[in-house]
Amino acid sequence: MGENVKVIVRCRPMNRKEIDNKSDSIVEIGDYVVSVVNPLARTAPRKSFTFDSVYNGLSKTETIYNDMCYSLVESTLEGYNGTIFAYGQTGCGKTHTMQGEGYSDTAENNGIIQRCFDHIFETISIATSVRFLALVSYLEIYNENIRDLLSANEPNSIRNHPLKDVPGVGVTVPTLTTQAVMNAIDCYNWLSVGNKNRITGATLMNEKSSRSHTIFTISLEQIQESAAAPTNLSSDQTIGGIRRGKLNLVDLAGSERQSKTGAFGDRLKEATKINLSLSALGNVISALVDGKTKHVPYRDSKLTRLLQDSLGGNTKTLMVACISPADSNYDETLSTLRYACRAKNI
Ligand code: ADP
Ligand code: MG
Repeated sequence: MGENVKVIVRCRPMNRKEIDNKSDSIVEIGDYVVSVVNPLARTAPRKSFTFDSVYNGLSKTETIYNDMCYSLVESTLEGYNGTIFAYGQTGCGKTHTMQGEGYSDTAENNGIIQRCFDHIFETISIATSVRFLALVSYLEIYNENIRDLLSANEPNSIRNHPLKDVPGVGVTVPTLTTQAVMNAIDCYNWLSVGNKNRITGATLMNEKSSRSHTIFTISLEQIQESAAAPTNLSSDQTIGGIRRGKLNLVDLAGSERQSKTGAFGDRLKEATKINLSLSALGNVISALVDGKTKHVPYRDSKLTRLLQDSLGGNTKTLMVACISPADSNYDETLSTLRYACRAKNI
């Protein structure tokens, strides 16, 4: 199982505010190790954490994609489910990593999501003797409520799928919009539609984006064009000659502890729910990596329920933990590294 769950860390560069405040960098990035020093106890030993890979402020999303995402996306094209998460404190690069800074077919600043679109449709366009159907959906989990970002239908509740015992099926959101897509641009347009719906639905965009999880899902169905029975399909999710794979691209709510921001009332309620779902996710991943735990607590949050068919078993998971290098973020950085390390259990 451990092989199917990869955890990496990406440390962003210092931002303008941190530079202006003459922040010190307390993070050191090796090939596989991140170490941090406590700015209030600089002579104390550094705390070190090991991951599948670690990236510094100069690293490009393209490198991360080629190193860590490419093979995961390939396996979704072969009929398996996969999930890529961005985790971390608000402002540390989750959205930058997932969505980049816009989209163009040459841009270096494309995020993982656009790179997935390009990769998937490149493969589809050269596929011979297989027909693909690609569908996308985009949802947000805010306060443990699911919002369809591709339509105004509300509310959306989770149901067990009638085929729930078939591997890879699990739960569905029956009212969720799915859109057929023919190319990467179609995908990108739906991503933009969803992002706009997110904005108009929120009074304070930044406030809200840091408090909700989003899941952009690309479902791929493929069928052999020839009448001949497909071969080598015993271990994946082939039902009635249709092979199915699904890729979930998840931008998690900010992991920062809300006490720092003085949350109360509704804010505190939101914070409690975020903490609950992020810890449910951590528990599920570490139960899967551990392998010894019989009970995987999927049902503890909407997030883990929705992703149940894409976490564990034959699926692949990548967690990108995003951190800041600045001394002022020491506590949050340490807590992100601990969370990520626990998910990997190494
Ligand atoms: P989050 O989604 O975690 O709240 P963002 O992705 O919005 O954080 O990043 C906050 C700011 O930092 C944005 O302006 C973003 O462009 C910038 N940023 C984040 N990561 C990087 C990086 N690796 N390289 C350059 N700029 C980055
Ligand atoms: Mg963000």
